Amino acid sequence: MPDDVPLAPVAPTSHTPPPLLHRHAGDAWVACGDHRHWGLFGAAGLLLARREPAPADGDPGRVAAVVLQHRALWSDQGGTWGIPGGALAPHEDAVAGALREAAEEAAVDPADIQVLATYVLEHPAWSYTTVIAEVAPGAVVEPAAADPESLEVRWAGLTELGALPLLGAFADALPALLAVYEGDTTILGGPPSSGTR
Ligand SMILES: [Zn+2]
Repeated sequence: MPDDVPLAPVAPTSHTPPPLLHRHAGDAWVACGDHRHWGLFGAAGLLLARREPAPADGDPGRVAAVVLQHRALWSDQGGTWGIPGGALAPHEDAVAGALREAAEEAAVDPADIQVLATYVLEHPAWSYTTVIAEVAPGAVVEPAAADPESLEVRWAGLTELGALPLLGAFADALPALLAVYEGDTTILGGPPSSGTR
């Protein structure tokens, strides 16, 4: 990206943020009632899942793992696990922003995934869009920490999620977000699940 600058030499284990890292005009705190959020134009992240092998024709298989980011210690709620994401740039669509952040932070190629839905968490002065996606048929995604915002980026099996210290807001939304993959779109405000799965 033309406005990128060289990465500052700050390790993810540092508690001091690098001063210049993929900076754009949205990279600022916004006041929201008695708290604040990162992202002048809101923020977005990519929830990327992969499924178990399909057990039968017509059944896509259940979600087995999701890509998680172990957040750098200098970041907000550093040391917790969340999804790749960050502040949206001016006029940037939330899906485009989430895919950009996932490429920058987690080396996820947008060509290897398909977006299923988006879920928007609205605050009075800010919003966070979770882009719900899965690995495209036939594609292989091998995520990796691609910049100093992460201690680690990897596939995390659903069975190990309970043992990881998750980012608070992510932990709250996760069960409903995962249900979307199984056809339950309650969190999206869509039609109720058919109940056939
Ligand atoms: Zn808020």
